[in-house]
Amino acid sequence: MTDAVSLIRAKRDGQPLAGDDIRWLFEAYARHDVADEQMSALLMAIYFRGLDRAELRTWTAAMIASGDRLDLSSIGRPTVDKHSTGGVGDKVSLILAPLVAACGAAVPQLSGRGLGHTGGTLDKLESIPGFRAGLTPEETLAVLASAGCVICAAGSGLAPADRRLYALRDVTGTVESIPLIASSIMSKKIAEGTSALVLDVKVGTGAFMTSYQRARELAETMVALGEEHGVRTRALLTQMDVPLGRAVGNAVEVEESVQALHGHGPGDLMEVTLALARQMLALAGLEADPAAAIADGRALAAYRTMIRAQGGDPDAPLPQAAHTQILAAPADGWLTRLDALAVGIAAWRLGAGRARKEDDVSASAGIICLAKPGDRVQAGQPLLELRADERERFGPALAALQGAAAVSDQGPPPPVSPVIEEVGPA
Ligand code: URA
Repeated sequence: MTDAVSLIRAKRDGQPLAGDDIRWLFEAYARHDVADEQMSALLMAIYFRGLDRAELRTWTAAMIASGDRLDLSSIGRPTVDKHSTGGVGDKVSLILAPLVAACGAAVPQLSGRGLGHTGGTLDKLESIPGFRAGLTPEETLAVLASAGCVICAAGSGLAPADRRLYALRDVTGTVESIPLIASSIMSKKIAEGTSALVLDVKVGTGAFMTSYQRARELAETMVALGEEHGVRTRALLTQMDVPLGRAVGNAVEVEESVQALHGHGPGDLMEVTLALARQMLALAGLEADPAAAIADGRALAAYRTMIRAQGGDPDAPLPQAAHTQILAAPADGWLTRLDALAVGIAAWRLGAGRARKEDDVSASAGIICLAKPGDRVQAGQPLLELRADERERFGPALAALQGAAAVSDQGPPPPVSPVIEEVGPA
């Protein structure tokens, strides 16, 4: 028989927690026999002391066991999902889910909403008139069966312990712990019932992980956790120093995604999307060429089917912002930098993102990057188009963009591939 104070002391002093103790902790926390302040103290001890591999496996299993696990066995196709740690202009899911579905897999994308400077997939899709992100488990399965993919909100029944833990971490300075992040992400993805998972772990100024070492460690930790729980898991590390593609916001990202499905996507966006698609198809055991599924229109058809199945009208005009403002290039030369974090914060201040979970987002606010690093620009040429519903938003957004772009007359910067490397099981 254990108690919360003993567990906090043990972890504080660097001793590993036994499997039975971790299981007891989550059961007692669910019964409210362990108080939030005790769980907070334990989270802080974990922040400093970490969790070893066995502890992390049991911790994650206990989070999964705190709720339901979706049963996708009736789908009749290999299931494979993707999770991104979040970036600026990261609309990959909107293209990737129908693309991989068009190649024969079933893609159950249970997603979250955006918070802070990175956008949320559901916020983007909800700019489509009629689109519903809140589906019941039965509706989720029905859309998945009919369209081959579904992108909807993770219901409250999946890993509910994570919701309570995340709320505590948010207010106790314990979000930035690799075992806590890994268990939070992977418990929800494993509970979703997918057989395979590809993780897009972003690295750079606009990412959750700004250093390569920490991103690599997070990727390795999540891949190991997935594999230990019977989910075939791989990760790609991808660049997030520059916004992905040209559009940052909600409706503007939907528009760019539809262009991409028509075969007119920007190079960096397509490179990341196709690299993830190939990984997903390999894990699903499918031999298919995702580029061909874009070229012949199958991916676009799957997208339209999914949007309709979730109540949306793929042909309806998307909301347009009332006001626009241009940020111009400061000098002649080559654009060498366009900082993802600054662009993300500016888009958020324009109304595209939320500061608190309960805030609304503007469907039409956002930023169009009219030039990207490597492009030749002239002084005064438009670099960014800012869009907002209210003019007062431009001042704070422009303040965030101070120094975000750099122009050099020393020649173009060397091209950088947005895909850094693959991380597989050790
Ligand atoms: N996303 C999650 O779902 N959990 C974390 O801890 C961090 C990012």
